[in-house]
Amino acid sequence: MTVYTERINKVRKELEQLDAEAALITSPLSVAYLTGFACDPHERFLGLLLREDGAVLFVPSLEKEKAESELGGAGSSIHEILGVQDTDDPYDKVKQNGGLSTVRRLAVEKEYMKLGHAERLGAVFEGLTFTDIGGLVSRMRNRKTPEEIAKLKAAAVLVEDVLAEGLKRVKAGVTELELVAELEYIMKKKGADGPSFDTMVLAGANSALPHGVPGATKVQEGAFLLFDLGVFKDGYCSDITRTFVVGEPSAEMEKIYNTVLAAEEAAIRAVQIGRPLAEVDRAARSVIEDAGYGRYFTHRTGHGLGMEVHEYPSVHGANEEAMEAGMVFTIEPGIYVPGVGGVRIEDDVYVTESGAGLLTSFPKALTRLEI
Ligand code: MN
Ligand code: MN
Repeated sequence: MTVYTERINKVRKELEQLDAEAALITSPLSVAYLTGFACDPHERFLGLLLREDGAVLFVPSLEKEKAESELGGAGSSIHEILGVQDTDDPYDKVKQNGGLSTVRRLAVEKEYMKLGHAERLGAVFEGLTFTDIGGLVSRMRNRKTPEEIAKLKAAAVLVEDVLAEGLKRVKAGVTELELVAELEYIMKKKGADGPSFDTMVLAGANSALPHGVPGATKVQEGAFLLFDLGVFKDGYCSDITRTFVVGEPSAEMEKIYNTVLAAEEAAIRAVQIGRPLAEVDRAARSVIEDAGYGRYFTHRTGHGLGMEVHEYPSVHGANEEAMEAGMVFTIEPGIYVPGVGGVRIEDDVYVTESGAGLLTSFPKALTRLEI
């Protein structure tokens, strides 16, 4: 049995629990996760209809040939692949070809499905109600297989190579945006499918903005320089942050840096199967609070990572959900002092029997860059 058949069967099994006749999965990443067929349909309809006794994949008709060549072989868990023309009503097509004349209750990814699409489904299947299957798919997606961990590791190794190369481009007069352009160029040159999010380079006081936008600010002597970047590679993401000092740091900058580093390492040590995710956040936060910077750590400690750069679960202080083997998330505490600058250190980790496994390994000790 392929990993895709196993995944599809798991969703199918849930239908009975949910008292639903079928599931309609429409998030392209979930479809890729469940079938192995990766497709960006843009605004067109892509849907995987799962009944207890069958699976039908609806793809934009221009993708049908690709879907058939990738999924059509013997042993495929997809029973039928149907092309949806631009002139078709996709919901009517689902009704005509999904093997279901009536559906009372349909499982969908509620956080993904748009209200307009839900209403059109409701118009096609009279008296339809919805139940959520998104949580199950998210939880399945977060427990990575060894093959997925290997892909995440490859994405992490690649981005660290990009960062090392990009640091050589830091010189007097270079702007944040120029460094972003260099990094994204290096990513492609080194074989990344693309950045997994907009590359961030923030110089000086801008580094105090956790979601700052790189611009015309030049690297500055005696200030922080923050890099937050990631790549897509073979369908999986990396996400790393390192903060450097250009020239000589002040005593306060050194204290801020070493506090974030201690917090990040404490959070990594808090990773343990069976313990709540909240403890990872608390471990980082208590180090920062004890150093007197609590009010400058303004975000959660991390987020799930996989086919998407931000996915389930959220690593925050109120998430009492237990860590499980194979979960992958980021650990990225920061201190952002307005006017002084900010430091964030971010690693990607996975949960193992013996604590955190590290996907990223770029050096973290305070590093001075000379310009
Ligand atoms: Mn990041
Ligand atoms: Mn992140």
